[in-house]
Amino acid sequence: MLKNILAELSESKTTLVAVSKTKPNEKILDLYNDGQRIFGENRVQELVTKYETLPKDIAWHLIGHLQNNKVKYIASFVEMIHSIDSKKLLNEVNKQAAKNDRSIKVLLQFKIAEEDTKYGLTLEDAKTIISSDEFSNLKNIEICGVMGMASFTDNTDQVRKEFQNLKSIFENLKETYFSDQESFKEISMGMSGDYKLAIEEGSTMVRIGSLLFGSR
Ligand SMILES: *Cc1c(COP(=O)(O)O)cnc(C)c1O
Repeated sequence: MLKNILAELSESKTTLVAVSKTKPNEKILDLYNDGQRIFGENRVQELVTKYETLPKDIAWHLIGHLQNNKVKYIASFVEMIHSIDSKKLLNEVNKQAAKNDRSIKVLLQFKIAEEDTKYGLTLEDAKTIISSDEFSNLKNIEICGVMGMASFTDNTDQVRKEFQNLKSIFENLKETYFSDQESFKEISMGMSGDYKLAIEEGSTMVRIGSLLFGSR
C-alpha cells in the first residue's frame, strides 16, 4: 500500500506523513523498513513514547490539537507541529524550542470544515498574529505553511471547496507576509478518504493513517 500511495504522490511531489496514532511500534517499523521516515501522531504522550522507543532518524510530526502545557514534552525532538491554532501556543512553542536551542517547524491550522468541533484559525486571526510586534521576535519557530481538515462528508463538491479555501488562504498569506520566505511552502491537507481531491487542489503534504495501517 505504501508503494502505491507513494507512486500516486510522486508526480505532484506531495510529502507523505504516515499517521501512526494508536498503532504499535511493530507496524510503524514495517513502514520504516520500507523507507518511510515521516510519521504523524495526534497525542503528546503517545508521541513521546514512540519517539523514545523507535529509530531516531524518524521525523515526528504532531498533527493533533496541542495544549500549551504539553509543548515542553515534545520540544526537544518534534520536527513539525501542524496544529498551531493560537498566538499563545505559537509563543509557547517558540519558548520551548529556544530552551532546547533549536528551531521547530510549524503550520498554522485553519478551520475550513463546516463542523464546529474542529480547531483552527480564521484568516483574520492569522493576520492578527503575524502582524503583531511579538511575532517578529519569534526566532525559534519556522512558519512553513498551513494545515486544515475538510468536513467528513461524501459531498466531494463541498470537500473540494474547503480545500480550495485553504489553498487561497495559503496564497493570501504567502503574498502578504512570506513572499521572500522560501520555507513558507506547505499546504497540509488530505487524509485517507480525501487525499486524491486534496492533491488535485494543491496539497503539498497529505496525512494518511487508516489507508496505510488499517482502520483504527
Ligand atoms: C487521524 C488523523 C489523520 C489521518 O486520518 P485517516 O483518515 O486515518 O487517514 C490525518 N490528520 C489528522 C489531524 C488526524 O488526526
